[in-house]
Amino acid sequence: MASPDDKVIGVLTSGGDAPGMNSALRAVVRTALSKGAQVYAIYEGYQGMVDGGNQIRVMQWDDVGGILQRGGTVIGTARSADFRTREGRLKAARNLLEHGIDRLVVIGGDGSLTGANLFRQEWAGLLAELAAQGQISPQTAAEHSYLSIVGLVGSIDNDFFGTDMTIGADTALQRITDALDQIGSTASSHQRTFVVEVMGRNCGYLALMSSLAGTAHWVFIPESPPETDDWETLMCDVLRAGRAAGRRHSMVVIAEGARDRHGNPITSAQVCKVLEERLGEDARVTILGHVQRGGSPSAFDRWMSTLVGNAAVEELLSAAPESEPQLIGMRYNRVTHMPLMECVQKTRAVAEAISVQDYDRAMELRGGSFKEQFRILRTLIRALPHPPPPDVRRLKLAILTDGAPAPGMNTAVRAAVRMAVDQGHRVMAVHNGFDGLIRGDLEEFTWMDVHSWGSVGGSQLGVSRNVPSGSDLYAIARTLEAQGIEGLLVIGGWMAYESAHKLYSERNTFPAFNIPMICLPASIDNNLPGSELSIGADTALNSIVQVLDKIKQSAVAFRRCFVVEVMGNYCGYLALMSGLASGAERVYLNEEGVTLKDLETSLNDMIASFKQGKRLSLVIRNENANPLYTTSFMNALFEEEAHKLFDVRSSILGHMQQGGNPSPFDRIQATRLATRCVEFLTAEAEQNSTTCAFIGIQSGQIKIHHFDDMLRMLDIPHTRPKEQWWLALRPLVRLLS
Ligand code: ADP
Repeated sequence: MASPDDKVIGVLTSGGDAPGMNSALRAVVRTALSKGAQVYAIYEGYQGMVDGGNQIRVMQWDDVGGILQRGGTVIGTARSADFRTREGRLKAARNLLEHGIDRLVVIGGDGSLTGANLFRQEWAGLLAELAAQGQISPQTAAEHSYLSIVGLVGSIDNDFFGTDMTIGADTALQRITDALDQIGSTASSHQRTFVVEVMGRNCGYLALMSSLAGTAHWVFIPESPPETDDWETLMCDVLRAGRAAGRRHSMVVIAEGARDRHGNPITSAQVCKVLEERLGEDARVTILGHVQRGGSPSAFDRWMSTLVGNAAVEELLSAAPESEPQLIGMRYNRVTHMPLMECVQKTRAVAEAISVQDYDRAMELRGGSFKEQFRILRTLIRALPHPPPPDVRRLKLAILTDGAPAPGMNTAVRAAVRMAVDQGHRVMAVHNGFDGLIRGDLEEFTWMDVHSWGSVGGSQLGVSRNVPSGSDLYAIARTLEAQGIEGLLVIGGWMAYESAHKLYSERNTFPAFNIPMICLPASIDNNLPGSELSIGADTALNSIVQVLDKIKQSAVAFRRCFVVEVMGNYCGYLALMSGLASGAERVYLNEEGVTLKDLETSLNDMIASFKQGKRLSLVIRNENANPLYTTSFMNALFEEEAHKLFDVRSSILGHMQQGGNPSPFDRIQATRLATRCVEFLTAEAEQNSTTCAFIGIQSGQIKIHHFDDMLRMLDIPHTRPKEQWWLALRPLVRLLS
């Protein structure tokens, strides 16, 4: 058996660049080195492989330092015509063997991965030819008889089978959503109509999700063209009705591959002309273009790419060389392995279905969640609700937000109000959370009352921060009875759940509490039961990571260690994930605790690395990591013991973490969950059932748990769930830093 020293890995980025490729590269290089393998970066994609020489460079640990926050790919990418020829691939094989490389991590789209697979299939033949030509020895050919390949999908389009998200898609979605928010504010000032074209030739993911997140009023995607040939009339009717209902602007989002049912392209210019001519509006086109591709990767793209990069090397080093090449992707926040070519073929099947106008199949192949979001979008963007069905029992529901504000709360309220009103129900919005229920501060909301709430952070309804007790409960019971509330949606964090549970546990005393209730997880701390990611956590993580980038940039001018304190209460999610996304050396969590020995080890590691020329060290501390080893204590300890080898600064990030407009991910999840909560409440109330439940996404599925399950899922003294999936990622922080 070969010793690990013989294992030589090459890594390349190919095809279109995507933010997050650098995080994957860093993880590949550092994982390989930590496992005793050698690793080479192949610059400029396959062209660098064909050209060889200085384009194939050995990588050391520090060569991939400081690149997590950089957009694009630092090792370059290219489209290579040479690699499409056998002659080019022959040269590429020879160049790889010059360094003993027979394992490749290919980060690219379907073209790049197809090329990799072909190269692998031809490998034995290429080696035989090189040996016959005397370019390599027969022994070299025998020692490297297989080429092992692992694929990672770098593509902003999120168009790939076998992974929930491709590297770069989340960042692109953030760029587009930001642009839609910005265009929306100017459009609204001038009462204009905007047509915004986004990328996606065969994939409507970016158009659909940005419309859902950025509150567009009409969307065109390739997979599901307008159902009628006269889409112009349909679109204009909807937008006209929106204006009549009081919208100050209209926004149409169009994927670049949009088409009608016969396959004829629908272009942004064409849509703009229709709007001007038929609606007499001042319409403008904005083509977002390459802005969508560029810039610093989002927090998700950094940690997700880190995970798949790490897993790619583990696969390459552990799988038998002759085994089928794998694609490493993410499903439900976990790394997955799928046969590479099966994924490529299934990905292509969608494009083929679109090209033969089999749109039902295209939508089917995209999967249930995509179809569900399209359906939700088509309701939310309406100017007015559907006329109520004649036989509907008109329910009266109440909605409140409670606990610390979390970005995405307003988005959830908007979706819940519209979904309920659309089904003919009445919605009472409660001001200031449970306090509002105590004081009877309720207001009926109609369709346009939540207009433009989707993109706004904080809580428009207001929150309270007390768990009701004693006479509060009488007051709440009175309000519920007086208002005739038949179902309650509670959007919030730990305290909101506690308050709702309190009502549930007091049902015997207060019959008014015998109504269906459901809690929707909204807390930046991500510490709620039955939910892997609560609403607001993604936004907070992005805010933290952006600040850490700036802190790192400022610190690198000196030799400096930064100790940064992040929120999370007793839950280390924000600390660990921001540590992964920013390349922190050490993360302190309450879950692990902090000992003096830990601090001493960190200090000694830092002293050693600063002595070797390191300029920056980042330590992240959860706010409740340890009550006595505080941020200022750590600062003082490190500063004193560094003996001027480096200086130490600390920063407590504070409430900026709770603020900001919600990220697209938080908006989309808030919308999905709120929709499902309304479905739950109405179904329960219609059957006169009084189930109380809490909702969340677990393993990619929306799950609803009964209140009776809540307590056993909780670590109550630490206000967090007993099971936390992300704790499994702890070793990665240490491995990669
Ligand atoms: P993406 O990987 O983003 O889909 P491309 O389709 O442009 O981007 O592919 C990137 C590169 O991968 C191409 O320039 C070419 O060098 C290589 N490639 C793509 N398809 C093949 C193929 N069928 N055979 C060999 N090489 C290919």
